[in-house]
Parts: sequence; structure tokens; C-alpha cells
Amino acid sequence: MSQRKVVKVVSGQAVSDGAGVRLKRVIGTPQLDQVDPFLMLDEFKSDRADDYLAGFPDHPHRGFETVTYMLAGAMRHQDHAGNQGDLVAGSVQWMTAGRGIIHSEMPRQQDGLMWGFQLWINLPAKDKMTAPRYQDIPADRIPETALAPGVRARVIAGEAGGVRGPVEGIVTAPVYLDVRMDARSRTSLSLTSGHSAFVYVYDGAVRLGTGADARDVTAGQAAVLSDGEGLDVETSDSAARFLVLAARPLREPVARYGPFVMNTREELAQAAQDYQSGRFGT
Ligand code: FE
Repeated sequence: MSQRKVVKVVSGQAVSDGAGVRLKRVIGTPQLDQVDPFLMLDEFKSDRADDYLAGFPDHPHRGFETVTYMLAGAMRHQDHAGNQGDLVAGSVQWMTAGRGIIHSEMPRQQDGLMWGFQLWINLPAKDKMTAPRYQDIPADRIPETALAPGVRARVIAGEAGGVRGPVEGIVTAPVYLDVRMDARSRTSLSLTSGHSAFVYVYDGAVRLGTGADARDVTAGQAAVLSDGEGLDVETSDSAARFLVLAARPLREPVARYGPFVMNTREELAQAAQDYQSGRFGT
């Protein structure tokens, strides 16, 4: 079995988005434009209300999927079609924006810790104008499985340790794991050959790969992986928590402007026009 190794390590960058929410942007930066089909990964983590209270008031999306995973705190999601839901600790919202939604994502707390991730996953040309779809997954529907002694994974999408995650029917066949490792533990993850993959460490530190190719990756860093099947992961003196993401790459041209991600500039112009003329998301 061919082992994956780390080909690039990047540190998340401090940015401000929405109405002034402070975030760490990991993918979707000059350092790491995308990991096809992953277009963006943001981590938001703050116990200062000023960093998150402004939230993300009404804004559109077209041509891709947004995945929000909360570790702490609560956000309310509301869209133009009247769909509404609360995202709380441990839950996931997988939103296939498709041809378009207009929504807001606002904190449901005045203080305390808000911690989570938003990931953007591209859609292939044939599915960019699909009907919008939500998969709102409460925390208790996300299975947790032991991968090795001292190693546990919540399986949001795809499969790990013989357990399948609740998110289904996503065209890029993604794997989304939230892994927790004790100090001095090890495991080997299996990932589909040919699929893009990266690891984002959000607490502690891990060593990825084996032998001379092994790399230490610490909290706030993402490691882009080579192709292969297995990935060896171990911890030394500190425990670790990290996300594992993998999916089938699209290998299509990407034209992006803010909340629109299409294949051509003409399609971007059309998206902006549809939005401005109120024909968006209907
Ligand atoms: Fe949004």
C-alpha cells in the first residue's frame, strides 16, 4: 500500500469576513489557493464577543457547497426560502448552494466561546446549477469510532474504522473526519487513492508520514498530502485534534468572485446579474 506524505505545510492567516468576524483562513489564501475541490477553510475561535457578534448578514452563494462544523457556541442559519436552523456544538450543516441561496449566519450567543470551521467544496460544472439542498446533522447523528488505542474519530462524511458518516449524496465523495489522539498514540488512516487530501491540526501537534518523509504539524497549520492510500499519524508528548479532508478532484477551471464560484468569467457575470436583479436562488 502506498503511503501518503506531506507535500506542503501552511499556517492559517488572520482575516476578517462577513460584517467583521475575525477568522483564521487556512485554504483560499495566496499561500494555498485551493486543494481541488476544497476552495476554502476558515477556523473561527474566540471568546471575545467583538470578534464574532457582527456575524454574516444576508449574502449569496452559487456554484459550490459550504460545510459548517461547530465545536463550541451556537449560530443561527436563515435563508431566503424560509429555511432556518441552529448550529450548536458538535453539529454540522452541509449546504449544497447549487444555483443559489441567499442566507445569513449569525451568532446565537452574546458572549462565551465560539469555535468552529467553515469549508467550501467546489461543485463540477454539471452540478453548479443544481437545486439547493441542506443536510443539517445534529451532534448525536455523527458516529464516533475508535481507530486505534487512544485514537477516536467523529465521522461526518465518508468512512473510517468501518463506520460511515451521515452526510450522503455529495458528488465529490468527500471524507470529513474530526480526529482526537492521546499523547503517544498512533494510527494509519486509509484514504481513496486519486483523491485530494489535507489535514488541519487545530489543537496540539501530530507527526504525519513515516521515516525520512515524516513532518511535524502543529495547531493552526494545514498539511497538503501526496496521492496514496494510507496516512501514518502519530503523536509524541502532546495530544492532538485535527480534521482530515479528502475528496475527488474536479480538475476544471475555477472562476471565483466572493461568494460565486463558477467555471468561466461569463458565468460569474451572470451570477452577479441574477443576484442584483432579484432572480437569484428562485
Ligand atoms: Fe454563507
